[in-house]
Amino acid sequence: QKFVYDFTEGNRDLKDLLGGKGANLAEMTNLGLPVPPGFTITTEACKVYLDSGEEPAALRDEVSAHLDALEQRMGKKLGQTDDPLLVSVRSGAKFSMPGMMDTVLNIGLSDTSVEGLARQAGDERFAWDSYRRLIQMFGKTVLGVGGELFEDALEAAKEAKRVAVDTDLDASDLKKLVKQFKKIVKSGTGRDFPQDPRDQMDLAIKAVFDSWNGDRAKLYRRQERIPHDLGTAVNVCSMVFGNLGPDSGTGVAFTRDPASGHQGVYGDYLQNAQGEDVVAGIRNTVPLADLESIDKKSYDQLMQIMETLETHYKDLCDIEFTIERGRLWMLQTRVGKRTAGAAFRIATQLVDQGLIDEAEALQRVTGAQLAQLMFPRFDEAARVEKLGRGIAASPGAAVGKAVFDSYTAVKWSRSGEKVILIRRETNPDDLDGMIAAEGILTSRGGKTSHAAVVARGMGKTCVCGAEELEVDTKRRRMTVNGTVVEEGDVVSIDGSTGRVYLGEVPVVPSPVVEYFEGRMHAGADDADELVRAVHRVMAYADRVRRLRVRANADNAEDALRARRFGAQGIGLCRTEHMFLGERRGMVEKLILADTDDEREDALKVLLPLQKRDFVELFEAMDGLPVTVRLLDPPLHEFLPDITELSVRVALAEARKDANENDLRLLQAVHRLHEQNPMLGLRGVRLGLVIPGLFTMQVRAIAEAAAERRNAKGDPRAEIMIPLVGTVQELEIVREEAEQVIAEVEAATGVGLRLALGTMIELPRAALTAGQIAEAAEFFSFGTNDLTQTVWGFSRDDVEASFFTAYLEKGIFGVSPFETIDKDGVGSLVRDAVAAGRATRPDLKLGVCGEHGGDPESVHFFHEAGLDYVSCSPFRIPVARLEAGRAAA
Ligand code: ADP
Ligand code: MG
Ligand code: MG
Repeated sequence: QKFVYDFTEGNRDLKDLLGGKGANLAEMTNLGLPVPPGFTITTEACKVYLDSGEEPAALRDEVSAHLDALEQRMGKKLGQTDDPLLVSVRSGAKFSMPGMMDTVLNIGLSDTSVEGLARQAGDERFAWDSYRRLIQMFGKTVLGVGGELFEDALEAAKEAKRVAVDTDLDASDLKKLVKQFKKIVKSGTGRDFPQDPRDQMDLAIKAVFDSWNGDRAKLYRRQERIPHDLGTAVNVCSMVFGNLGPDSGTGVAFTRDPASGHQGVYGDYLQNAQGEDVVAGIRNTVPLADLESIDKKSYDQLMQIMETLETHYKDLCDIEFTIERGRLWMLQTRVGKRTAGAAFRIATQLVDQGLIDEAEALQRVTGAQLAQLMFPRFDEAARVEKLGRGIAASPGAAVGKAVFDSYTAVKWSRSGEKVILIRRETNPDDLDGMIAAEGILTSRGGKTSHAAVVARGMGKTCVCGAEELEVDTKRRRMTVNGTVVEEGDVVSIDGSTGRVYLGEVPVVPSPVVEYFEGRMHAGADDADELVRAVHRVMAYADRVRRLRVRANADNAEDALRARRFGAQGIGLCRTEHMFLGERRGMVEKLILADTDDEREDALKVLLPLQKRDFVELFEAMDGLPVTVRLLDPPLHEFLPDITELSVRVALAEARKDANENDLRLLQAVHRLHEQNPMLGLRGVRLGLVIPGLFTMQVRAIAEAAAERRNAKGDPRAEIMIPLVGTVQELEIVREEAEQVIAEVEAATGVGLRLALGTMIELPRAALTAGQIAEAAEFFSFGTNDLTQTVWGFSRDDVEASFFTAYLEKGIFGVSPFETIDKDGVGSLVRDAVAAGRATRPDLKLGVCGEHGGDPESVHFFHEAGLDYVSCSPFRIPVARLEAGRAAA
């Protein structure tokens, strides 16, 4: 097994093995772009190390061989005293984890080689600046010394000299600083800063391996659902120097705007700086466009390279580069993160440019991004005080109380407050605060700053670089043009415009929702450009998808909205909603009925009401299937709460005016009380135990369908029986239902052809699906209950009790109620599909419940061969898109 790859040996498809950074460094090397030579240690080596606590035996020799080759090529040896080769040791996992992992620059410098470097470069200041950076980064990330100790010492040095920025420190200042830094290392670790270059390199490699299991990295992976067992690769890359004076510098750039998708020159550049300086906001960067006047040759070459990369990757790329004395070097590229809106725009732009086809365009967007675009926005017309404006870094409309540190953000959000995290700039230590906040606001940094990159990745609203803001973290407040905002004051930030407001701004629907609702079509402004892009991508998805998409809807209003959103029917109409509100009294009568006559009277009152509901629903969904589920929940849900009622009765008894009805109710509540109602008298069991209940519902459906037919409508009702565990239950209900339907047909003279099917939501139903299909014309997988019963989890309790622990321990990456558990629940679904179709080849198959609108689950249902998914009306566009993505 080979653990080390030269940059010339890899390529972009090897991300699993070389990590994203390593794979793309190799790809750029092979494209002939100027990449400083180096090599990559594989994720396999990291995995061995993490599993066993030791590096693989062969690793050291392999690294030595590659280092030799690198030294040969560069004509100098690592850390050699008169002319040292320096390298960076850089982490790089398969998925980019911005700022989460550690990188150490300038490895190879020591008390002696720093002098060699100074002579060789003819620049003492540069050499000592590089050395102090090495000790600082190495001290913090490899040796675990508190980073603020170095920062404070640096600040103190600047203050002593009364200068504002690090470039104002000269060689002798930096020499002194190095001495101090070494002391800090010594007192922090009890050891001297390692002088042996190879030791430095080996320790740094190990530190990168270890950083995979750092708290920040773990938290980020949980957030982003990145598996914990991938490991990171390590890149060893020969150094190039952006801190060699004004003709040097370092920068970051995007090949197009990650917020809008527009083509142009987007990035930041900083003269006389190294690596992280640009994103850390240490000095003010200049826009990339300014590089043209600073160094035209490098600028032109960079533009050329960016075009090469876009055409090669056929996508937006972000890059890191360094200019060393007028010579351009590429240090990183990857397909760049972008906002949800930009994802749709870029996908259609690339189709128009002929770079990708429609199927590929579908892979460039996600349902989660579409869902994000459907969030409401701020009302532009609202009269709320504008505080200032920053850079629109990650879209969305966020309102919350101002907090100025991550700790408070987390604490307040735990107690249910919405907060906006306000910082001068963020760094990886702010991650949990950023997660807790509704939005992030910074006064420094551009579109490529830490805050911007991380917020975009999380889909969180972010405004950055709002320079009018004077953020005073210590006093927990900020001042904006004379206005003071204290901790706890409400602010609103708009990540699409960059505007910051004092107070709460009202929100309005997003243009994408306006479009789905049919209230917006075309136009010229930015929103309409987005709407056009969404419209096109949805058209691609609808063209290729095989799964049909239905809605869960119980009334005509929801049904009509669902239709506008593209629903192809109703997959689940819950009839219990028709038993609530003012009808509760009638249901009580039904439950309390002592005699057949009383029961029949109660049912007779309910029948016309139910019928009217169905007429409206069938009319709204005319021409499309409507699956009506007969009553499902336990009856106690329609009765008063047991404690409340007991108290009422007890009080009344004390006053000696107990009311007859309340007493009967209390008896009924006691009679119906179950320890475990979800496994109790509900679903088909109600139909079998309470005579006339299901047949009343069937009659209402049949009569409604007949009425619609007589009105020249096209009702397509399907009757669905919940919670069936055995075919016998279904057969009994079916027989009764068929008789009622026949009666209605005879009475109205209308042939109805009502389909009758069942939910598959108990393990036994799934296991005996072949038998059940004898009596069912369709199955609808009720994956909520199925998940509950397969796992033995009570879905109303577990999320609050032990799911957090399960998620933290990695037992599952996401709740099985959110994304279907493919191995367990999913395997039952697959088997039931096969068994059901074996019995009845034209069996119609669908799914209703939360999973029907979950992107990952939709892909599963596509693969499992279902005919449709059903989800809440608002999720329908997401389901359509994901069904298209699954088929493309
Ligand atoms: P991250 O994953 O956090 O971006 P990187 O490994 O890309 O970390 O490195 C951090 C910074 O150091 C980046 O700005 C990068 O461009 C710079 N850098 C890394 N290696 C070198 C090198 N060999 N020469 C010069 N700069 C480097
Ligand atoms: Mg980088
Ligand atoms: Mg159910």
